[in-house]
Amino acid sequence: MDNTTNTSEKSTTKQRLTAIVIALTMVLAALPLSYAYSYASEQPGSEQEKNVTDSNAEKEKPRPMVAIDPGHQKYLDSRLERFDPNKKGKKPRISGGCVGVASGVPEYKYTLKIAKKLRKELIKRGYSVYMTRKKNNVRISNRQRALRVNKSGAAIYIRLHCDSWGSARGVSMQYKNKTNRYVKKRVTRKNKKLSKYILKKYVKATKMKNRGMFARNDLTGSNWSKIPTTLIEMGFFSNAAEDRRMQKASFQKKMVKGIANGVDAYFGY
Ligand SMILES: [Zn+2]
Repeated sequence: MDNTTNTSEKSTTKQRLTAIVIALTMVLAALPLSYAYSYASEQPGSEQEKNVTDSNAEKEKPRPMVAIDPGHQKYLDSRLERFDPNKKGKKPRISGGCVGVASGVPEYKYTLKIAKKLRKELIKRGYSVYMTRKKNNVRISNRQRALRVNKSGAAIYIRLHCDSWGSARGVSMQYKNKTNRYVKKRVTRKNKKLSKYILKKYVKATKMKNRGMFARNDLTGSNWSKIPTTLIEMGFFSNAAEDRRMQKASFQKKMVKGIANGVDAYFGY
């Protein structure tokens, strides 16, 4: 009996020892793993980090393309072209534009200068940009510009101009509100939406007088465009004070910021 008891006690002790050894081995084996896991999750490029990076990349997918037209060009082109795909009437290909009454700066030079600054700002915000011209000495009609924009892949089209009417001052938007066979209805609706947002943000940034929005169905460059389009009259070159102000780099920065903010608002960024 004793022997038996002894043997059984011995075997129990053996079993306990074996159990302890197994348990200890398991703990020891698991330790480096858990250490390795916590170490890995703190390292850049680990699985967790990758997941975060992926979701950020999704949020920051490229923004749409914006087409910019610096209004006019060095030489006017009085040859005629159809101003509307649905009408027979014709207008000169490119009109001369105005000149700053105080600065003497021609509108074509000014619109290109602002266009380049706007392009830079939009690219900084993640958009891609299509420019209808990058030089002053070109010969591209308003209709040709619109047709090129249609092919460019741009989502919206912004046409830059300066106004001229005595001592009047302020900014206005000219948008097309007539729907026809050439342009889809929803695009026509978006002409107004785009104009509204740019006007609002431009006035906010520059504190210029808000002259409102004008429906214009006689603008060749807008009529031939198949994407949401607006034309901004950025200020009056015929008003000496406004002209002088518009030549300042610090003010141009506000103008550009205003237009870019309007683009952001339109797309919902
Ligand atoms: Zn103009």
